[in-house]
Amino acid sequence: MLQTMIVGSLPRPTWLVPPGQVYGSWKLAGETLREGQDDAVLLAIADQEAAGMNIITDGEQRRRHYIWGFCEGLTGLDFEHLVKIQTRGGRYNTQVAAARVIGPIRRPRPILLDALRFLKRHTTRPVKVTLPGPMTTADTLADEYYGNRRTLAAEVAKVLNEEALELAENGCNIIQFDEPCFNIYLDDVEEWGIRTLEEAARGVQAKTAVHICYGYGVPQVLQWKTRNTDWSQYWRTLPLLRTSTINMISVECAASGVDPAVLAEARGKELMVGVIDVGTEEVETAETVAARIRTALQYVDADRLYPCTDCGMVPRSRAAARGKMKALADGAWMVRSALIQHTAQRETVMGFRPGTR
Ligand code: ZN
Repeated sequence: MLQTMIVGSLPRPTWLVPPGQVYGSWKLAGETLREGQDDAVLLAIADQEAAGMNIITDGEQRRRHYIWGFCEGLTGLDFEHLVKIQTRGGRYNTQVAAARVIGPIRRPRPILLDALRFLKRHTTRPVKVTLPGPMTTADTLADEYYGNRRTLAAEVAKVLNEEALELAENGCNIIQFDEPCFNIYLDDVEEWGIRTLEEAARGVQAKTAVHICYGYGVPQVLQWKTRNTDWSQYWRTLPLLRTSTINMISVECAASGVDPAVLAEARGKELMVGVIDVGTEEVETAETVAARIRTALQYVDADRLYPCTDCGMVPRSRAAARGKMKALADGAWMVRSALIQHTAQRETVMGFRPGTR
């Protein structure tokens, strides 16, 4: 119980990507880049294992960005001639450079399979691979072909499903779809977003997860968070996801104004609960993390609760990311050991003794 993991990304070493970049530009090229990415993944694995994470990712060290890392393997998109678009419903008041959809979206070959194989060769722990969710991917592309966001998302779901099926067949334990847009376009989530996500996850023989957050810990998002007063989004989406085919739901709780009582709305599902704020360099104490986990335990059973970060840690320093992972593991350990002790005491009182059954 209380198995720990990060949402997905870790900061890239500054010899690979200039510091502080979320849309990374590589400092290396060609074969040297591939070697550098391999080395960065080995460091990401070592950092997670040393901190005590139970489930491991590759830290998304091979991706320029969590959406582009997948989309760059598709055809039908133009990454040469970018256009500026408004994304995320304009919530963060920024225009981003977007790839253009100029033809049918296809996946000519596996995109993250080699990365999964590399990860599995270098850890014996369960592994997770993250993929961008169909709605959020559609929101991040400039569509000049399908003419309808819902249709575009459905086409993205098809190629995501091909990828997810293959990753599961090759031993990926958890496949997570990142859908921050599920906190933005609530009517669309209800109307087609969850069904489209289910299409992406259809038939996948691994645990499937959806990560829903309020964005990276970057300045424009942090500014929105300090202004925002409406944190009701999960109250609408969790009851809908509860009856979906998705196994796990990742919820941001540490740095938002979200009422943890909302977690009860997803009862029966496994929940990754954010107990680490990814918007600050300040490292939480293990006690703070333990207190956040205990709060979540009022609404989620311990064997369904996965203490996690709020979001990816790519904008953080490596020192902060390491510290936060250690606090996450230590806080979970404190709560876990207290729960085990409590159970043992109760069994003794009830006449059971360890080893007598
Ligand atoms: Zn996130």
